[in-house]
Amino acid sequence: MRKVSIFGATGSIGENTVDLISRNPSEYDVVALSGGRNVARLAEQAIALKADVAVTAFEECFADLKAALVGSGVDVAAGPDAIAQAAERPADWVMSAIVGAAGLVPGLTALKQGKTLALANKESLVTAGPMLLAEAKAHGATVLPVDSEHSAVFQALVGEDTTAVERIIITASGGAFRDWDAKDLHKATLEDACTHPNWDMGQRITIDSASLFNKAMELIETKEFFGVLSDQIETVIHPESLIHALVGFNDGALMAHLGPPDMRHAIGYALHWPDRTHLPVDRLDLTQIGSLNFRPADPERYPALRLAREVMEAGGMAGTIFTAAKEAALDAFIARQIGFTHMADIVDATLSTLSGEIAASEQLTLDSVLAVDHLARKTAQAIIAAG
Ligand code: NDP
Ligand code: MG
Repeated sequence: MRKVSIFGATGSIGENTVDLISRNPSEYDVVALSGGRNVARLAEQAIALKADVAVTAFEECFADLKAALVGSGVDVAAGPDAIAQAAERPADWVMSAIVGAAGLVPGLTALKQGKTLALANKESLVTAGPMLLAEAKAHGATVLPVDSEHSAVFQALVGEDTTAVERIIITASGGAFRDWDAKDLHKATLEDACTHPNWDMGQRITIDSASLFNKAMELIETKEFFGVLSDQIETVIHPESLIHALVGFNDGALMAHLGPPDMRHAIGYALHWPDRTHLPVDRLDLTQIGSLNFRPADPERYPALRLAREVMEAGGMAGTIFTAAKEAALDAFIARQIGFTHMADIVDATLSTLSGEIAASEQLTLDSVLAVDHLARKTAQAIIAAG
């Protein structure tokens, strides 16, 4: 039996992971599950999967989780430190699916066990990619991409000579506002931003898809994960979300990965890698699809893409500042403190304010990343408060 843990089990990626594991319970021994405020669902999952421990990220949710699991034999804990401790419990395969930079420490802790980390939490790579991957190498751990685009690139590279890679094309659905006039974007409300045309995902990534901050993070994620340069990474708007990514080789060949917009494909691929196995996802009928469309992703319309390029060029701690400022701006948009287009203004202003202060050469350690993350959040919040 494979020992597995799922961090962020109650979220969209977490639920899809639980779905796959629940289909073959005899194959898995579930060690740890973590969640946030959805304590009832976390308890339900922990009982159904017979987990050793269930952890909520929030101390104030501890009593409810404990009550829901009384008599179940499942250990109960709360708080970020408890999540990190749960990540120390030996597991062969760990899903990192907490949303935001809060996923960094659990993921980092898990990979120090030297096993396999399935990484959905893209923020870990954007905020501290070089450190995370160096730690994985040092501990003999494997990091597998779960983001659909990166899973697609990873699959297109199987058996290939990576020095022959010329470019990587990451597709973008364009999010909720892809058909809006650019001059109307400032009017977009929270409700408008919370609907995605193709994917069913958590609230934060859905809004990030509308602003293209999700794609911006994915460009940086591509650089970190596949070790390519910023100018080797392209993005294109592909409204159908059926081609997830393409890899271009030096002989002109372009390998595309197609699949339905169902995260259970990428999660299942990471769960069974290096093998492939039957997965419960729809099969594409190309004759029904008929045509696939592509159009350029305009950096004027989507300032997040320009900021991602700047972050990739700057290197160092720019990704840490970018992630923290983006999260502070997203919090403010969700709290209706700022408008939709202000999110990019705030990230831009935070990067400008801190770029001189934080040397690009600063060594990425967990302490320096957490300190810069804290500083960038405070700076972004001050910019928001100043209006
Ligand atoms: P959700 O918002 O659906 O779920 C997030 C999970 O993290 C939940 O279990 C939530 O708990 C928990 N959580 C929330 N805040 C904290 C915190 N401060 N500390 C610890 N845990 C917390 O997110 P998604 O599943 O959509 O996304 C998860 C990650 O995967 C993100 O990094 C996202 O970018 C990435 N991803 C997601 C995709 C998708 O299709 N959804 C696709 C590709 C990548 P609770 O709900 O109980 O409060
Ligand atoms: Mg993606």
